[in-house]
Amino acid sequence: MEQLQPVILVIDDSAVAREVILDALRQAQLDVTLLAAANGEEALALLERQRVDLVLCDLEMPGIDGLGLLDRLSASELWREIPVIILTGHETSEEKIRGLERGACDYVTKPFDAGELIARVNVQLKIKSLQDRLRESNRRLEQLSRTDPLTGLANRRHFLEVLQEAFTAATGEGTPLALVMLDIDHFKRLNDTRGHQAGDTVLAKIGDLLLEGDGFAARYGGEEFAIVLMERSLGEAVRVAEQLRQQIEELTFDGGLADLKLTASFGVAAIPHREVETLTQLIREADDALYRAKHGGRNRVVAAAAS
Ligand code: GH3
Ligand code: MG
Ligand code: MG
Ligand code: MG
Repeated sequence: MEQLQPVILVIDDSAVAREVILDALRQAQLDVTLLAAANGEEALALLERQRVDLVLCDLEMPGIDGLGLLDRLSASELWREIPVIILTGHETSEEKIRGLERGACDYVTKPFDAGELIARVNVQLKIKSLQDRLRESNRRLEQLSRTDPLTGLANRRHFLEVLQEAFTAATGEGTPLALVMLDIDHFKRLNDTRGHQAGDTVLAKIGDLLLEGDGFAARYGGEEFAIVLMERSLGEAVRVAEQLRQQIEELTFDGGLADLKLTASFGVAAIPHREVETLTQLIREADDALYRAKHGGRNRVVAAAAS
């Protein structure tokens, strides 16, 4: 993962105090970018357009003060994770406690010792960097857990989650929703005669086609794919499927697969439909239609009985 230079934002209404802190940070020659703001408003404006990894913030300031800023940060999805070290002019622990309770991660008492300030800054930067890496790797894992590695499409599990959400929304709002299922014809024969590798190439190519196309597509099973089309009627979905059927028929392959003739069969179902109340029923309708397409001779689109 690329490591960006950390950005530290120093906020203090006193220009002198600001300069003292910035100076201490500069002297320490940390590999960081330094920013400064004279009050909470200025700081928020900066945060709007700039990534910040650590905030050093005075407590007493006109307008949005330190505690006010802490509240804004913790209320924001984007800024919640930014560590804040409060700079307090008071020796009383009450103020420090209030700051820590409102989301600060540490405090430094003014006048501060430069060495101590830098040590605390380094600790927070290190924690922030570890947390960023953890978040990033979680994000990647989540992405992997949703994706079929061969085609780059959503996998069945993720597709069913998305479909269930879309189905619930569509039934709630009374809007149409269509489901297209497609299955490659005689795929086993292709595997048997040309090898598993050739089969994989074909699957990946279908994946590319579906990634570019309409709706949200997934690899539903081995050589079976599914597409959900929101706000599309049965008739509109049949047209989408028919277009895909032709595109698959017209696909060309390189090398040893140059003479390959690929086709797929399609089943389409949609709501509203008087016999469909659950997602399972919708899937069954599309599946049945696909079954009829296979038995009707393959390389065709069959729609579930209209509502
Ligand atoms: P039909 O026209 O009736 O759909 O026949 P078919 O041969 O396509 O269907 P069948 O279900 O008999 O065979 C599907 C084959 O798909 C069997 C399985 O080995 C193959 N398959 C499943 N996943 C993969 C994969 O990831 N890569 C490859 N190369 N083959 C796969
Ligand atoms: Mg002040
Ligand atoms: Mg098949
Ligand atoms: Mg199949």
